[in-house]
Amino acid sequence: MPLGHDLIKQQLFFRREMIERVYWFIHLRWAVVGAGLVTSWILHFLEPKFPVIPISFVLLFIALYNVIFLILYRRLIFFKPQEVEPFAVFAHAQIGVDLLALFIMIYFTGGIYSPLLLFVIFHIILAGILLTPVSCFVYGVLVLLATGCFVMFQNAGTLETPFILFQSPTFDYGAEFFQIWGRYLIFAATIMITAFLVTTIKLSLRTKGRELLKISRELDMSNAKLTALYEMAKEMGLCSDLQTLMDTATRNATRIMGVRGCSIKLLDEDTKTLKFASTYGLSEDYIAKGSIQIEKSPINRRIIEGSFYSIGKIDEKDYFQYPEDVRKEGIASMICLPLRVEKRIFGVFCVYSNESFYFEEKDIEFFSLMTDLAAIAIENLRSALTKFWFMMKASHQLRSPLNTIYSMLKPLIDGYFGPISENQKDIIEKCVKRIKILGELINDLLKLGEKKSESARPVLYPVDLTKIMHQLADFYQTRATEKGVEINFRIQEDIPRVLANEKIIDELFTNLLSNAVKYTPPGGKVEVLLSKENENRILFEVTDTGIGLSEEEIPKLFTEFFRTESAKALVEEGTGLGLAIVKEILDRLGGTITVESKVGRGSRFSCLLPSLPSS
Ligand code: ADP
Repeated sequence: MPLGHDLIKQQLFFRREMIERVYWFIHLRWAVVGAGLVTSWILHFLEPKFPVIPISFVLLFIALYNVIFLILYRRLIFFKPQEVEPFAVFAHAQIGVDLLALFIMIYFTGGIYSPLLLFVIFHIILAGILLTPVSCFVYGVLVLLATGCFVMFQNAGTLETPFILFQSPTFDYGAEFFQIWGRYLIFAATIMITAFLVTTIKLSLRTKGRELLKISRELDMSNAKLTALYEMAKEMGLCSDLQTLMDTATRNATRIMGVRGCSIKLLDEDTKTLKFASTYGLSEDYIAKGSIQIEKSPINRRIIEGSFYSIGKIDEKDYFQYPEDVRKEGIASMICLPLRVEKRIFGVFCVYSNESFYFEEKDIEFFSLMTDLAAIAIENLRSALTKFWFMMKASHQLRSPLNTIYSMLKPLIDGYFGPISENQKDIIEKCVKRIKILGELINDLLKLGEKKSESARPVLYPVDLTKIMHQLADFYQTRATEKGVEINFRIQEDIPRVLANEKIIDELFTNLLSNAVKYTPPGGKVEVLLSKENENRILFEVTDTGIGLSEEEIPKLFTEFFRTESAKALVEEGTGLGLAIVKEILDRLGGTITVESKVGRGSRFSCLLPSLPSS
C-alpha cells in the first residue's frame, strides 16, 4: 500500500493530468471540426454524391456540444478544482458523445465499409489513458457492439448506407485512385493521429514525471534536514553545560546547512557588545577580532533589534565593523538571525558560506527554525544553571552558621554550661540530629554542584580501584556488623586501573555501599563484587537483600531529592542526592549503571567502568 505522502503525490499527479487532458480534448475537437468541414466540402467537390450536408450537420453538432463542454469545463475549474471525480465524469461524457457523433458519420460514409471506422481507436486509447481500465474495456465492448450491429443489419440488407466513402466514385476516371489512395490517406491519418496522441501524452507524462521526481527529491531533502534537526535538538537536550550545548549547535548547523562555518555571539547588555561564544569552521584570526560593538556594526545592530539578515554577496563595507576580516576569511554570503526567547534577544546565530548567493528563501526559513531551537535550548540550560548556581551559593552560605549552631549545642549537651534537665537534653539532642541531617544535605548539594560544574572538573589519572575498596571494606564491615547485617566482599586483585580520581571513586563506592547497608534491615545480607568484566570494563556490583524498589521507582532513582516511601519509613536521614552524585560521577568517567530490584527482596546496583589497557 502506498505511504501517505506517496498517495497524495499520486493524487495530485492524476488530478493535474486529468484536468489538462480534458481541456486538451476540447481544443482537439475544434481542430477536428475545422479539418472535417474543409475535407467534406473538398470531397463533395470531387465526388458530388458525398453526403456533405449530413456530415456538416454532425460536425456542427460537435462544435455545438464543444461550446457546452468549454463552459462546463470553466465552471468545473472554478467550483471544483480540487476534485478528480467530476473531471472523470466529464471525460466520460466527452468520449461518449464523441463516439456517438463518430458512429453517425460512419453510417453516412458506408457503415461497416467506412474507412472512418478506424477513428474509434483514438477513443479507446484516450479512455485507456484517462479513465479506469474497466471503463476502457466497456468502451471497447460498446464499440464492438455498435460495429456488430452494422455488420448484422448491413449483411441482412436492413440497413442501407447512403454512400460508401472511396468505394463509389462518380468520376469517369480515377475510381481506383480514390479507392486506394483515399483509404490510404484515412489509414495514414489514423497512424499519424495515434502517434500524435501517444507521443504528446507520453511527453507530458515525462515532464510531469520529472517534476514529480524533483518534488520527491525536495521532500526527501527536507525530510533528511528535519531528521538532522531533530537529532540536533536531542543532542542539545542532553548537554548539561552551556559551552558544549553551543558547540553542538554550531557544529550541527554547519553540517546540516552544508556551509563553511557557523557562529553564536552572545549579547553583553552592559557593554552593548556581542562576543563570540561558539564558532565552527572559522579561523582563529577571525575569532580573535574580539567583541563587536553593536553601534559600529549596522548589521548586528539590526539583528539585535529583531530583524533577520541574509546577505547574498558580501561587498558592502558599511555592513560590518570589520569588513576586511570578513573578506579575508573568504566569507561570500551569510544568514544571521537573532537568538530570541519570548521577545528577549540575547545573541546572534550566523551561518557563513564561501559562495555568493548560496542561501535560498527556504534555507532562511529552515535556519530560522534551527535558531529558535538553539535559543530555547540555550535559555533553558542557562536558567537551570542559574537555579543551580543559586542553590550552590545558598548551600555554601548555610554551612558556616550551621556549624556554629552545632558547635554551640554540643557543649550545652555535654554540660559545660551547667546542668540541664533530661527533657531539655532530649530536645537539644533532637535539634542536633536535625542539624546533622541538614549538614549532610548541604554537603551532598555541594558535592553534586561540584560534579555538575565544568570549572571544577577533577583531574583524572590511573587509579587502583582495589586499593580504595580495601580501605572502605573495614569501615563498612564494622558498620554492617553493628547493624546486624552480614557483608561479604569479593575483590579481584589484579584488575586493570581506571582513568579516574581517588576522591570521586571513593564517593561512588561509599554512596552505593552505605545505601545497601542503610536499606537492608538487620538479619539481611550485602554482597560486594569488584572484578574485571572483560578486556576494557571493570564491574563494581553491590547486591543486598533489603527493602527493594518497585518497577516504577527504579527510573526515578537518579533524580535529585528522590526517596521512596519505604526508605523514608525505614530511615529518617537521607538527602535523595547520593544516587544523583553517583550518576554524575559515572557520566564523567564514561561508565554506566544498571539497577535490578524487587520490593521486599533486595536490589542489585551494577556499575561498569572503562578500564585502561593492562600494560
Ligand atoms: P538517600 O539514600 O540519601 O535517600 P540516595 O540518592 O542515595 O539518597 O538514594 C535515593 C533513594 O533510592 C533512597 O532514598 C531509596 O529510596 C532508594 N535506594 C537507594 N539505594 C537503595 C537500596 N540499596 N535499596 C533500596 N532502595 C534504595
